[in-house]
Amino acid sequence: MQKIKQNFPSSRRAFLERSCKGLIYYTIPAFEQTGLVKHGFSTRLGGVSKGEFYSLNLSFRRKDSPENVRENYKRYCRALEIQPEQAVVPNAVHGNRVTAVNETHRGMGITRQSEIWETDGLITNRPGLALVSWHADCVPLFFLDPLHKVIGLSHSGWRGTVAKIGQRTLKAMREHYGTRAEDCLVGIGPSIGPCCFEVDSPVANEFIEAWPEHKNEIVQPGEDGKFTVNLWEANRIQLEQLGVKKSHITTAALCTACNTDVFFSHRKEKGRTGSMAAVLMLV
Ligand SMILES: [Zn+2]
Repeated sequence: MQKIKQNFPSSRRAFLERSCKGLIYYTIPAFEQTGLVKHGFSTRLGGVSKGEFYSLNLSFRRKDSPENVRENYKRYCRALEIQPEQAVVPNAVHGNRVTAVNETHRGMGITRQSEIWETDGLITNRPGLALVSWHADCVPLFFLDPLHKVIGLSHSGWRGTVAKIGQRTLKAMREHYGTRAEDCLVGIGPSIGPCCFEVDSPVANEFIEAWPEHKNEIVQPGEDGKFTVNLWEANRIQLEQLGVKKSHITTAALCTACNTDVFFSHRKEKGRTGSMAAVLMLV
């Protein structure tokens, strides 16, 4: 595969590129070092889907053939050493609701209908339950509390970012399982970067109102009266505001829209695209 453009490289540690039989995915070194989880963020490389879904589309919600998506899951799960029926996917709506899941949710969204409605964040303390979220520009947030052995996974689009789903996920981990923010490891995965996420002033203003004291880190003036928004910083800042340590946050700093040879990008490909999947499971 060709070298991915590292947009706005972070001084913090990056994600690692992994490969299994031609399937390329990313992992978080700090998560691997705990030995507590299996996890990954997929690319579009290594699947069987054709055309705009080329090739590792992992969403059943797009117009790809379900047989192809199932085969793609088989390959991705083999790379991550998990079983497809261990996975659980919520019905995401770009909101900020977080749901705690257990064995009764196994297979939902993959091998059977998901009954987890209007949910963009999942948390659990159950080993062997693989949390999954679908992404094609929206930010994946991975959470691991190694002390209480608790995980969380969020789908943080721009609306979810402004609605602080990252903070909601951490708070839910605290309420359900006693997680403390300062113990948590966090990964901010590949998504649309500040290089490509151009918005009009109403959207820019939502970010400025959410973080007035950090507006210069998050919102920059662009061309033709537009603005660019840095979703990675908006997510990092909201997590640090709740007590997550800077040294515990790993940011991939990889832009999906700049790298459509490697990632699906809803915006760059004008909706004619597939989805990557973030996966996180306690072993
Ligand atoms: Zn970009």
